Amino acid sequence: MTLKSKKALITGSTSGIGLGIARQLAKAGCDIMISGHRHTEEEDKLVHEMAETYGVNVFLQCGDMTSPDFCEELVKVSAEKLGGLDILVNNAGMQFVAPVTEFPKEKWDMVIALNLSAVFHCTKRALPYMRQGNFGRILNIASAHGLVASPGKSAYVAAKHGVVGMTKVVALETAQENITANAICPGWVLTPLVEQQIKDNAEKNGQDFETAKKELLAEKQPSIEFVAPEQLGDYAVFLCSDSAAQITGAALPMDGGWTAR
Ligand code: NAD
Repeated sequence: MTLKSKKALITGSTSGIGLGIARQLAKAGCDIMISGHRHTEEEDKLVHEMAETYGVNVFLQCGDMTSPDFCEELVKVSAEKLGGLDILVNNAGMQFVAPVTEFPKEKWDMVIALNLSAVFHCTKRALPYMRQGNFGRILNIASAHGLVASPGKSAYVAAKHGVVGMTKVVALETAQENITANAICPGWVLTPLVEQQIKDNAEKNGQDFETAKKELLAEKQPSIEFVAPEQLGDYAVFLCSDSAAQITGAALPMDGGWTAR
């Protein structure tokens, strides 16, 4: 499938799922803006490697997306460097796990700011560029936790359910404009965000990493396999294509059966 010369901003794309999606979009021909929290030499290397591998323009802009001002700046700079904006993948996210009564207020504010409010700030700034180009694809990386809950994840589950709601509103507001908005709801994907949770569980339960990993999968994901970032990337490419023009306002699981039970 080709998305030749489409202009895409993928937030949180220096690692994990965002990087998997950025790679598949670049492979399909998109010029891309990748973005992460902190700018190090590793990120510069990634830009060069991706530009060389996929033969597309690759730009990088890093900063703290819990700041609304940075979110707005990121979209503006992306559109300027890419020469427009066709695709926005709202992916940057974080996790914090604690029971409601012990959940630190600062962590609640941070999770909501990054996982939910950043989606609003970026979408608000991206839509005018999409309207200018008469084409738009907004992909919000929610989670199985956008559809169902787990204990200890109040801020995350609230944010991801919020993302699913926000996706529906944007889909309705753009329904006749060749713009679609969808949420992808992954189950477990083995990224740094999940590795940390496995390490925490292993420490809490006196297990080794492999045992804690198997238990994590067995508890929620009937396939007992992780979803791969490349699989999510291929799904994103399809959702950005003309074949997916009538898919909008949907919350689409890719979760090895997690939300089927
Ligand atoms: P990850 O930790 O590998 O990557 C997170 C990305 O977000 C990185 O690029 C990081 O630089 C960026 N980021 C973190 N804090 C930031 C901040 N304050 N400002 C700007 N950027 C920031 O995580 P991941 O597992 O790839 O998760 C990506 C998205 O997928 C998240 O929204 C997460 O909730 C969602 N998700 C993950 C899983 C999973 O199993 N890994 C499952 C469902 C949904």
